[in-house]
Amino acid sequence: MLLVKNGRVLDPASKTDAQFDILLDGDKIKELAPAGKISAPQDTEVFDAAGLIVAPGFIDMHVHLREPGQESSETIETGTRSAARGGFTAVCCMPNTRPVNDNASITRFIVDKASKAGVRVWPIGAASIGSKGENLAEIAAMKQAGIVAVSDDGKPIATAKLARQVMEFCRSLDLPVIEHSEDVSLAAGAVMREGVTSTRLGLRGMPAAAESVCVARDVQLAELTGARLHVAHLSAKASLEQVRFAKQRGLHVTCEVTPHHFTLIDEDVQYDSRFKMNPPLASREDREALIAGLADGSVDAIATDHAPHEPALKDVEFDKAPFGILGFETGLALSLEQLVHPGHITLMRMVDLFTTGPAKILGIERKIAPGQPADLTIFSTTHEWTYDVKKSPSKSRNSPFDGRTFQGAPIATIVAGRLVYKM
Ligand SMILES: [Zn+2]
Ligand SMILES: [Zn+2]
Repeated sequence: MLLVKNGRVLDPASKTDAQFDILLDGDKIKELAPAGKISAPQDTEVFDAAGLIVAPGFIDMHVHLREPGQESSETIETGTRSAARGGFTAVCCMPNTRPVNDNASITRFIVDKASKAGVRVWPIGAASIGSKGENLAEIAAMKQAGIVAVSDDGKPIATAKLARQVMEFCRSLDLPVIEHSEDVSLAAGAVMREGVTSTRLGLRGMPAAAESVCVARDVQLAELTGARLHVAHLSAKASLEQVRFAKQRGLHVTCEVTPHHFTLIDEDVQYDSRFKMNPPLASREDREALIAGLADGSVDAIATDHAPHEPALKDVEFDKAPFGILGFETGLALSLEQLVHPGHITLMRMVDLFTTGPAKILGIERKIAPGQPADLTIFSTTHEWTYDVKKSPSKSRNSPFDGRTFQGAPIATIVAGRLVYKM
């Protein structure tokens, strides 16, 4: 057994904010009681969380683990170790591996590899075969094998007709459809967001509408089909307005925002490929809109879109570098820095965005209560540290936040009653 004592327990599901002790028995929570009130057996391991926040296990619902196929950039083992360091107890891995996770045998391969990892891995299956946008993938068989959602991430579901089919099918299976919203005709050839900065740098930009046009398409299809639509890495104000509109109509439409999109803007791009991701860093006004959406409840989750690329691929000219950056180990610290410390959102709301928020989208429970999985994220809001990407367990180094000093950090990550990371 493991007793986590003296911590400030923050649980959005039960609106708990109090000094509580938590007794974990194997992979389940056994007891939750005011500090000092639990009498644990003699041989119980004790974690003293005095001065720390104890939250339900954080979920990162949008990550790339690169296995199978690109193991020189990341593996399930290295990626999940990096996730544990970031305070994540569960991650949802996108299907754009090589081969693409578009059938049950690939899903089973991932689930099997992940069974040896410290952190829970919940695979997302491709919407179309090879994510090519032509024919439906083996969604029902993948669901049996363990997928929790469907996406062609890396690109959008190619056509409105196919998106409709995917939504109809996923609705019957009660699976969310996660969309990488991008109109490829508007985004073709672009390497950053279109605007004054792209003009100044002489780099090809995509307009914000490349994202919001696709969101509008999908919101209408979600209404037509009744499907659960989740907009991945939403970066533009106009897209958020579409999501708000959908919510007002009572549609099952949700969205996530990444830490890099609420931290950085297009002006931060300086021919440095560590600032190249898709969707690209947006305008100052977009960033402000995202923060407002995180505060008012329009945004449902924070997800990192952890996208490792080995140095040989990423350390090249801006134009030629692949899209994507590391996310696990800076996600919590950036959320504290950008959202909580300046007073935009409460600590409880931040925990919600990492726990109950993604859980609801995935259709699962996330709370600290007897009988629930013994997954906890323990963090400090004050601990000062400097991110050194060279020390990351990830196989890749592509972070624009290397060398940044933060106030607040993950201190311990507990999955199924086991400490999988301790600072
Ligand atoms: Zn994407
Ligand atoms: Zn992604």
